[in-house]
Amino acid sequence: MTFYSKLPHIGTTIFTIMSQLASEEGALNLSQGFPGFGADPVLLELVGKYAREGYNQYAPMSGIPELRQALAEKTRLTQGYLPDLADEVTIVSGATEAIFSAVSAVVRQGDEVIVLEPAYDSYEPAITLNGGVPIYLPLNSIDFSVDWERVQAAITSKTRAIMVNSPHNPSGFVWKESDLEALANLIRDREIYVISDEVYEHITFDGEKHFSLGAHLELRAKTFVCGSFGKTFHVTGWKIGYCIAPKNLTDEFRKIHQYVTFSTVTPIQFALADYLQVPDRYLSISAFYQRKRDLFARGLAETGLNIIPSQGSFFQMASYSHLSQISDQELAKEMTKKLKVACIPISVFYSDKKDDKIIRFCFAKEDQVLLEALERLKNLSLVL
Ligand code: PMP
Ligand code: GLN
Repeated sequence: MTFYSKLPHIGTTIFTIMSQLASEEGALNLSQGFPGFGADPVLLELVGKYAREGYNQYAPMSGIPELRQALAEKTRLTQGYLPDLADEVTIVSGATEAIFSAVSAVVRQGDEVIVLEPAYDSYEPAITLNGGVPIYLPLNSIDFSVDWERVQAAITSKTRAIMVNSPHNPSGFVWKESDLEALANLIRDREIYVISDEVYEHITFDGEKHFSLGAHLELRAKTFVCGSFGKTFHVTGWKIGYCIAPKNLTDEFRKIHQYVTFSTVTPIQFALADYLQVPDRYLSISAFYQRKRDLFARGLAETGLNIIPSQGSFFQMASYSHLSQISDQELAKEMTKKLKVACIPISVFYSDKKDDKIIRFCFAKEDQVLLEALERLKNLSLVL
């Protein structure tokens, strides 16, 4: 019997492929997005403390009240509104779960969901598994901002949701207040929900401010804000995140969450609840990464690549169409094998694998790793 796959087009993610290749080749891994340095020892100590003290059984389904409270306070401080911790805040096992559960909560058979490309890879399978139809729209090619006229033209009676991601992976584009206004205008009086992937909320540069969609009164009523503590506190392997949404949406979200994972790792929830009491621990992250972005982007520009300015996230894109026509996937592999520096080809973020000759580097690494990578990239002509 032939097994019928529900996701016949899905293979192994590029992040796994490139990290594996980097490891086989002994290359510096600037491909998959994860920090190459440790978390604050204070946070690690707190996790150990709570584990030793016996906080090791199931947490409440929606998250421990202490963490939901701390998250609500952080939201008030950074975004100017206080979500209700009982009805509007849910702790989940990573933003990936938040996105999956939010999509599952709203998308029905045949519903259309707008996806702006390049797009993070977990959106499409979540939509497809729920019977939805992704409607792909390109972001503007120069700065990866949103073409609102295009979005307006794509809205039909079947449009049920739109996937939003700011700061954006892979481009780093950060939404402006005017983008929130444009979206609010477009979906006003329509039953269209927003899944807002804000995992890089605390990594913005050059004074750019992250505007959560939850901070916009009108959008808040229709939006699932999905976040990740992994990105903010350099602990991507902990897989702990959250969803903030109004009560009617949170009720549906929790129905899914309680059968996907039920609850999330207990001692880490207690540790994060304590750790969040000091705002500087998340407010200082932007400056920390801006220095690394500057260091890396400056060096990268000297290799001959064209830098595409990054306003946020821990990614830096660069284009090479002026130097070579090699495919981006081929280049990423050759660069890993010959120069021992791994990156991500941007074509994988497009449904049709459109190749604009752009690659992405993760600069969440120790300075010496970034400097060594830049040194190796001086030999770019060997692969271009
Ligand atoms: N969205 C984006 C844009 C990401 O880059 C990531 C990072 N992997 C995620 C979601 C998933 O976050 P998490 O690891 O918390 O599931
Ligand atoms: N978000 C990470 C990236 O963009 C990858 C996470 C994963 O491997 N799924 O590199």
